Amino acid sequence: MLYDITRTISSTTAVWPGDAAFSAAYVYRLERGYAVNLTTMTLSPHTGTHIDAYFHYEPDGAHPAGMPLEAYIGPARVVTVKQRGGALLPDDFSHLDLTGVERLLLHSWVSDLPDDRWPPEFPYLSEELIVWLAARGVRLIGLDSPSVDAFDSTELRCHHALNRYKMVNIELLQLRGVTDGDYELIALPLKLDAVCGSPVRAVLRTA
Ligand SMILES: [Zn+2]
Repeated sequence: MLYDITRTISSTTAVWPGDAAFSAAYVYRLERGYAVNLTTMTLSPHTGTHIDAYFHYEPDGAHPAGMPLEAYIGPARVVTVKQRGGALLPDDFSHLDLTGVERLLLHSWVSDLPDDRWPPEFPYLSEELIVWLAARGVRLIGLDSPSVDAFDSTELRCHHALNRYKMVNIELLQLRGVTDGDYELIALPLKLDAVCGSPVRAVLRTA
């Protein structure tokens, strides 16, 4: 069974306030007598379900093409998060046995929002939680929230902590209808140079 846990990218997809909206335009058009439809598109690499490249917040950080591919594919655990907003702490996960979990996907109320709605609040990570998860061998943290840091954060301590521990993130997952448990995650970034993130087609597979 395959679960598509990706937001649809369209002209109505909600984007971070101030970021570029997605748009598509025709170069050639079948109905105008051309042999093909040929389109261009403009989008922020943070549109919909995406990964942050380290270059997003580190001057010499990797672009998507240089991010560690193996982190984005393999066994993953989906865990429900009940908080509507605020920082998640190790205590919120201490009841779980995360032994052997390399990829942790956090499923919150934000997944229930349609693709064109921006969450007025959302749960995010904390430096303490990242340190705690890194010590347990987690390499990837996926959220349905639009950021691993608070909306108004300028220090981006969680983003920097991910880089420090060589961990990677996925933001704006869409986990509606996915029950907690173990899956195989496939969410490979595009091999993009020079930009700060990449949309991914994120799927969960069961045996
Ligand atoms: Zn991002």
